[in-house]
Amino acid sequence: MSFMKNTDDMTQAITFTGSCLCGQVQYSVTTEIEDFYLCHCQQCRKITGSAFASNILTKPVDVLWVSGIEKVKRFDYPGKRTFTKVFCTECGSGLPYLNEKGSALVIPAGSLNDAPVLNPKNNIFWNDRAEWYESGIEAQQCSNFAK
Ligand SMILES: [Zn+2]
Ligand SMILES: [Zn+2]
Repeated sequence: MSFMKNTDDMTQAITFTGSCLCGQVQYSVTTEIEDFYLCHCQQCRKITGSAFASNILTKPVDVLWVSGIEKVKRFDYPGKRTFTKVFCTECGSGLPYLNEKGSALVIPAGSLNDAPVLNPKNNIFWNDRAEWYESGIEAQQCSNFAK
């Protein structure tokens, strides 16, 4: 992944590389960042199995699947608000996808090989956050497993 000098300048195209956990799916995508948010809505919690989804939103471009394209599956949740998950059929890890309108590419930040060049800007759907989210942040910090 290439780094920008000025992290406030999001008009520069960046190359992101990432993979699923099992490593069969590898991707590369070069695009401009538009947002980086943590979404706490119930659907994002369900779809990630975690407290929130961490998504980088970029200009819409095609993802270059470096390997494992045959393992890439898309799920579009039916309904008014659209939710999509693109994932590895082997290990279930989330991968980048174009939203249904085709207006944005969504990159799950946890799928990146390197830390993204900017920090999250917004906690969206904050009022829907998991009741245990804030107490989780305050919980004891352990360098590996809890004793
Ligand atoms: Zn995988
Ligand atoms: Zn959400």
